[in-house]
Amino acid sequence: MQVLLIHFGEIWLKGCNRNFFVRNLCAAVKRALQGVAKEPLVREDQRILIFLKNAAAAEEALRRLTLVPGIANIGLGRAVDLSLDAIERTALELMADGGFRSFAVRAKRANKQFPLRSLEIERRIGAAIAQQARRLGQNVAVDLRNPGRTCFIEVTHYRAVLYARKARGIGGLPPNSSGRLLCLLSGGIDSPVAAYKIIRRGVRLGFVHFHGSPAAPGDESEPVVRELVRRLTVYQGASKLYLVPFDRIQREIVAKAPQSFRILIYRRMMIRIAERLALRHKARGLVTGDSIGQVASQTLANMNAVGAASALPLYRPLCGADKEEIMTLARQIGTYAISTEPFADCCPMYLPRSPEIFASIEKLDAAEAHLDIEALVKLGTDSTVREIYEYANGEAVLKEAGERKQAA
Ligand code: ATP
Ligand code: MG
Repeated sequence: MQVLLIHFGEIWLKGCNRNFFVRNLCAAVKRALQGVAKEPLVREDQRILIFLKNAAAAEEALRRLTLVPGIANIGLGRAVDLSLDAIERTALELMADGGFRSFAVRAKRANKQFPLRSLEIERRIGAAIAQQARRLGQNVAVDLRNPGRTCFIEVTHYRAVLYARKARGIGGLPPNSSGRLLCLLSGGIDSPVAAYKIIRRGVRLGFVHFHGSPAAPGDESEPVVRELVRRLTVYQGASKLYLVPFDRIQREIVAKAPQSFRILIYRRMMIRIAERLALRHKARGLVTGDSIGQVASQTLANMNAVGAASALPLYRPLCGADKEEIMTLARQIGTYAISTEPFADCCPMYLPRSPEIFASIEKLDAAEAHLDIEALVKLGTDSTVREIYEYANGEAVLKEAGERKQAA
């Protein structure tokens, strides 16, 4: 039977509330592995072990676990009794195929009662592997610096786990470990990446999207945003998406505010409506995909003037990132292809000829003087539609759609 051995990410650093994080990680692992043929999870010596019922299940489980926050890495191999003979036999099997020119053995002993120390296990098993290779006529050497293959051996209080395959996890903290935030998700490249970075810190993220009414059918932004939320839900297990019609609010701004401030006032209205939804969502702050200086609305002056519209903390995890870095991460997490599907973004609507670059809180307040802010916020929140997505059986699906005026 194949076994997966999960090493925790930063949970190691946690002191007395480590159990809280490990419980959350176990819950996320169980959710990710729904529908995979396996035995119940085993928690043992700061590791999680999962016994799989067949090779296909093992591959699928490994793939899914590389998407769970809180996991540093995952080994795929075999578990044996706590006997040196069994360890040696299994190590020789794992290393028999000769598909490597150099190798290393890395042992870790969580169980200090095991008679051999880690270094002794490494020497003994390493010698046996080298001997087997010679016997089979394979030309292999020990290389501790840069081995072609590593035989990992981990000795717990109940068994030894051996593996030569190891996959990197995404690190971070398990889902649901850090409270809630609400992310303004535009459908562009940046905000899904911002969302991912925050989810990876263990935050349960809700999403809010503001959409216009596009001129041509098929141009809507909502399908793109739904697809992004589905993708991001894989990382956190479940998501709420709030869809806010923005067209009427934009028209009001176009009619009653100076042209050069339009975009910034759109943003302020988004922030205000998001703040109201955040309170319903029990979120303690907002997340955006802003990056300093990337576009005119993202100068420090403008971000300050816009951000002042909300009393909640505003998190901008991409503020120091280059576009190139953001695009690379977007490709890695699978959002790039979705974000680059064509859709009608509501913000370029009624675009001013020369947008304000250096707004201030006072200038923006003055520019909003003829707007009934409270009525517009209410218009937005009253027409909001909420959807719920859930990650089940290896897929994120829409679970509950489309009720208006929902409280979270
Ligand atoms: P993105 O790639 O995320 O669209 P961007 O670099 O294009 O970001 P803007 O379009 O100026 O920058 O948006 C800045 C941020 O404002 C976005 O990252 C997002 O958090 C928020 N935002 C913009 N438009 C919307 C929208 N229609 N709905 C929700 N949030 C939005
Ligand atoms: Mg955008």
